[in-house]
Amino acid sequence: MLPVVVVHGGAGHIPKERSERSTEGVCSAARAGYIILQGGGSSMDAVVGAVTELENNPNFNAGCGSVLNVKGDVEMDAIVMDGKSLGSGAVSAVRNIANPIQLARLVMDKTSHVCLTAEGAGQFARSMGVPEVPQESLITEYSRMRWKKNLEPEANPVEFQMGKMGTVGAVAVDSEGNVACATSTGGILNKMEGRVGDTPCVGCGGYADNSSGAVSTTGHGEAIMKVILARLILFHMEQGQSVEAASDLGLAYMKSRVDGLGGVVTVDPQGHWAARFSSGQMAWAAAQKDTLHYGLYTGEHFTQSTEMLLID
Ligand code: ASP
Repeated sequence: MLPVVVVHGGAGHIPKERSERSTEGVCSAARAGYIILQGGGSSMDAVVGAVTELENNPNFNAGCGSVLNVKGDVEMDAIVMDGKSLGSGAVSAVRNIANPIQLARLVMDKTSHVCLTAEGAGQFARSMGVPEVPQESLITEYSRMRWKKNLEPEANPVEFQMGKMGTVGAVAVDSEGNVACATSTGGILNKMEGRVGDTPCVGCGGYADNSSGAVSTTGHGEAIMKVILARLILFHMEQGQSVEAASDLGLAYMKSRVDGLGGVVTVDPQGHWAARFSSGQMAWAAAQKDTLHYGLYTGEHFTQSTEMLLID
């Protein structure tokens, strides 16, 4: 069994001028997650660490860099799930915090609930001492420009849905064979106020079970929710499919059944992993043993050997 961290930076179309930054961002997050595993952290520590780094990176649609809802506000969704206990924590439509993924973990660790939403999630954050941040600190010039563009009457609905989505997520296996997943997003461009997507829903934005594996998803949330994508992929793994084949079967079903595009990162408890997508692009990276793997376009798979990743 080989410990591994696999991260994604969202399925969709990534403009050329942003592709390098997306690739750098996912590579750095995979490394950060892997260093946590090397230091004796659990798979849950690793996925939360990797996703926190991506939330802090303004090039992704999560935390700082989130897309705006139709009113120009940031409302974020996030989930974590622990494959050992099947415990999970999630927040939806949460505002004014930098790292929704950490709040999702607090929901799992400190409450008897699975999901807190909107103002209730905000109150819980305050009670846990999570600092409130001004909304402006989460909004980039790029996200404001895209929000304005999509308010124009001639806005292209395809670009609207599949423009750079940039949701972030991670899955990991630690040295004890425990799996975990984490996913965080600002949702979809110009969504209605109060819209909750797939990300904070158990089985949709992610799922983790030590008896089969872990998945973090990205793509059109309404389509993902119709097919419960993460759980569907684990079902295929339970039927004997490999991480890769199961991921492809889940994505193909979503395409054929509800015409939905997306992407996933998947692991099994033995440390086999896959990063698969039906969208044009998905920035992804995986760190395992002494190698960093990464890619952006279909079929792309680069590797880089890095001593920093060596495990004794
Ligand atoms: N799944 C996210 C949502 O619909 C968007 C994405 O993955 O980019 O909220």
